[in-house]
Amino acid sequence: MKSYIGENISSLRKQIGDACGRAGRDPSEIILVAVSKTVGTAGIEEAIKFGCRDFGENRVADFMEKYEYFNGRVAFHMIGHLQTNKVKNIIGRAKLIHSVDSTRLLEEIEKRAAAIGVVQDILIQVDVAGEESKFGASEKEMMEMIEQNEGNSHVRIRGLMTMAPVADDPDEVRWVFRKLRDVFIDTRRKTFYNTVMDYTSMGMSNDFAVAIEEGADIIRVGSLIFHENTKDEITI
Ligand SMILES: *Cc1c(COP(=O)(O)O)cnc(C)c1O
Repeated sequence: MKSYIGENISSLRKQIGDACGRAGRDPSEIILVAVSKTVGTAGIEEAIKFGCRDFGENRVADFMEKYEYFNGRVAFHMIGHLQTNKVKNIIGRAKLIHSVDSTRLLEEIEKRAAAIGVVQDILIQVDVAGEESKFGASEKEMMEMIEQNEGNSHVRIRGLMTMAPVADDPDEVRWVFRKLRDVFIDTRRKTFYNTVMDYTSMGMSNDFAVAIEEGADIIRVGSLIFHENTKDEITI
């Protein structure tokens, strides 16, 4: 059962290696967050056997359940839209919150982290593609968040995250990754209290290779790891 997870991970690592080869990068630079939102603890156990140590969840209830179950054996990242009333449940537990997209959410994280005396690492989710239906801060809002965070001693901004629009050909969204990287590098040149621009989190199952070519530090891959992949079998 679920033996395909191991094969999926081997094939993914090969593709990560190929993308790094094209970009002149070292695969050890890339942090793989295995997005486990569609599987239970058994699926995660299987991925652990094949070397995964960072997992991504997009719902707070699932995050908490899996976090309790694994009890520190692996790290969990919060990658999904976060409501302020649920922030308290993941503070001090999430290794990194990728999806912080408003000053209001930032302030709630500061308040909850201060209450338990921890410093929470976060990324700002930026809506580079400018799709109004999607979550994410504009570049202007991103700067407001960075400036506001200079007064927050319990939140450390570690970088930027984005989601590219769905595209048949990942080359169509290359510009989104390139733009996030540009914004990231511009911001990294300046100095702000409580911001250390270490990571861009970009690229999913469909477009991680292009994201790596454009400088992704963290990729978030779900279906390519956890879904049975029938693509190779359709070669008649
Ligand atoms: C589900 C999800 C992913 C992974 O998507 P796949 O296409 O399954 O790889 C990455 N990031 C976020 C924010 C997600 O919600």
